[in-house]
Amino acid sequence: MRTYEKSTKLDNVCYDIRGPVMDEANRMQAAGIDVLKLNIGNPAPFGFHAPDEVIKDMSYNLRDTEGYSDSKGLFSARKAIMQYCQLKHIPNVGIDDIYTGNGVSELITMSMQGLLNNGDEILVPSPDYPLWTASVTLAGGTAVHYICDEQSDWYPDIDDMRSKITPNTKGIVVINPNNPTGALYPKEILEQIVDLAREFDLILFADEIYDRLVMDGRKHVALASLAPDVFTISFNGLSKSHRVAGYRIGWMCLCGRKDHVKGYIEGLNLLSSMRLCSNVPAQSIVQTSLGGYQSADELLLPGGRIYEQREYIYNALCDIPGVSVVKPKASFYIFPKLDQEKFHIKDDEKFALDLLREKKILITCGTGFNCTDPDHFRIVYLPNIVQLKTAMGRIADFLSYYHQ
Ligand code: PLP
Repeated sequence: MRTYEKSTKLDNVCYDIRGPVMDEANRMQAAGIDVLKLNIGNPAPFGFHAPDEVIKDMSYNLRDTEGYSDSKGLFSARKAIMQYCQLKHIPNVGIDDIYTGNGVSELITMSMQGLLNNGDEILVPSPDYPLWTASVTLAGGTAVHYICDEQSDWYPDIDDMRSKITPNTKGIVVINPNNPTGALYPKEILEQIVDLAREFDLILFADEIYDRLVMDGRKHVALASLAPDVFTISFNGLSKSHRVAGYRIGWMCLCGRKDHVKGYIEGLNLLSSMRLCSNVPAQSIVQTSLGGYQSADELLLPGGRIYEQREYIYNALCDIPGVSVVKPKASFYIFPKLDQEKFHIKDDEKFALDLLREKKILITCGTGFNCTDPDHFRIVYLPNIVQLKTAMGRIADFLSYYHQ
């Protein structure tokens, strides 16, 4: 019999958020063991539901969205996204510059497939949302990681970024607000990234899916708003802000100078046509979602669930001997550090597996986010306070005796 292996294109592609530790958690659950899952940024299962008006809108539109749409998306959806860009001061985005996708995920992959040849490099943050590194690799490129510095609130280290630019570098990925750190970058940092892109003629990829989940009265600045002359692709979607991750709706918008990227845009158009279009019922809720009442705001103020859960998890982590952590300003992730003098973690996947098997808590280890040192892990703080208290009690107990 012939055997079939995965393609060699996948040889170096990793996506550990849904990797071996999650497989073990699924095995445990199948055996009837209750596992507390702090590993996936999926709001709905934790009681964060989509606004009623969005559900109604989708159900009213089901009949009219049975067919394919234009490959880039419905006019009404793209018009609403255009207006959102205007609100965010992202300049000169026309209908044709907007592509809807089956989540931002599809568009991340598409943006890399359309651009990269073997040997091309893309600067990607470390830690990153690992789909970026995986998509660069799958497209034949090399993800070169720039440091986001924990000592400076996890902001990108601009000197490190500059030092990693080579003649093969084609673009810089900026994830702001950040997954997994919860960081929100100030304008000054973003301006320095734009300056680098301008100096070296690089494309900017701005993943801003958490831009409507910002706390403490802070404001998100869109990278493209600072770069009217630099070709920038901004990514956003409804999975998180409108708690409809299962509907699969995101978008990307092209802006800035375009005369030198005509070939790339042709490639994007080809890839967009090849998948025919994104989920049309999900496109039909974009207008109501972006134009309607922004109910996510309530979750992010004192008294709101995400705000209160962040306060709880941050304080609880700070109280554990040997754990330090930067307080997140946005999204719903926190990325604590384990003191190596105390825990001696050499293999953080083993750490995650040990925690899972002993305490039935599922977290994601830091190396899953392309962090080089094995001394971090990510918690998704979407479960309610009661669940978080249970989880933190067990983690604190585990860390009172654990070391490698
Ligand atoms: N970008 C970031 C930074 C994310 O954290 C996620 C999901 O967790 C995505 C993109 C993908 O989102 P979706 O495909 O649901 O739009």
